[in-house]
Amino acid sequence: MKVGFIGLGHMGGPMCRNIIKGGHQVVVHDLVEEAVQACVGLGATAGGSIGGVAGQVEVVMTSLPMPKDVEAVALGPDGIGEHAPPGTIFVDLSTNSPAMMRRIAAELAPKDIVTLDGPVSGGVAGAEAATIAIMVGGDRAAFDACLPVFESFGENIIHTGELGNGCIAKLCNNMVAFCTMTAAAEGLMLGTAAGIDPGILDQVIRNSSGDSRSHRGLAKSAFARDFAPGFTVDLAYKDLRLALELADELDLPLLLGPPVHSVMRMARGQDQGGENVTAILKVYEAFMGRQVGPVE
Ligand code: NAD
Repeated sequence: MKVGFIGLGHMGGPMCRNIIKGGHQVVVHDLVEEAVQACVGLGATAGGSIGGVAGQVEVVMTSLPMPKDVEAVALGPDGIGEHAPPGTIFVDLSTNSPAMMRRIAAELAPKDIVTLDGPVSGGVAGAEAATIAIMVGGDRAAFDACLPVFESFGENIIHTGELGNGCIAKLCNNMVAFCTMTAAAEGLMLGTAAGIDPGILDQVIRNSSGDSRSHRGLAKSAFARDFAPGFTVDLAYKDLRLALELADELDLPLLLGPPVHSVMRMARGQDQGGENVTAILKVYEAFMGRQVGPVE
């Protein structure tokens, strides 16, 4: 299949490289030239612009930071809508607002462009290893057509139903993960303040009912004092905002999501927006005046 890929960052870069390794013909574009060249080195073609990609492929995929970036690339001047020929499938792999994906799909449909929302989960390590989950909402026939491409960069590929359901599933998952991570930060902070060795506390939690991927990721960052992204606080803040917006649309009360969103806001206030999401621990460390780790 001839695939276009726009947005070759932390996730898009490795996902795209796996599509190329999977034997598909790939045309790429990013604002960062080194990211483009990393794919060209593996056999991709540089499209040079959004139109240069969208005008010559069967499916065009995006992995972009914010909903406004996806909106601009899909609907903006010189965007996918202006350049993709009828019959093109557009798949957004970003974590986006379901309402925006439905609006983009409605604007592209009259041009005979089918839209799927296909956010991913599994982090940069999963993207590198091609083990990420891909949750795809939208037209079943378009999903089936894209399946060989999805299989080249993911492992658990789930058709989630109608358009927007991919984003809904992803936002729910991430809200659970961030609430769990904040609880993990509180647990490590409480134990450290109470005097237990944080390495021993981690060993206990890993073998007890408090264990989670979120706890493990947080402890790893804390003990190595390594908060390099990965997945940034800014992106997590965006995801949680989208989850809260969804709850607002539905008039649904959420008890844990809103304060965790405020923890992210506090981390951004401490200039940690560009750090890994595990840097939310530093919010607790700042007001407790003590640090968890380093731990050998
Ligand atoms: P990133 O900032 O590392 O990468 C985004 C890339 O898009 C950059 O290379 C940037 O140059 C490019 N870009 C931005 N605007 C562009 C434009 N107009 N035209 C062409 N290229 C453009 O972000 P990321 O961490 O890879 O995240 C991408 C999406 O995936 C986000 O929606 C995020 O929420 C989601 N996600 C990220 C992770 C993760 O672990 N990082 C995991 C799951 C989902």
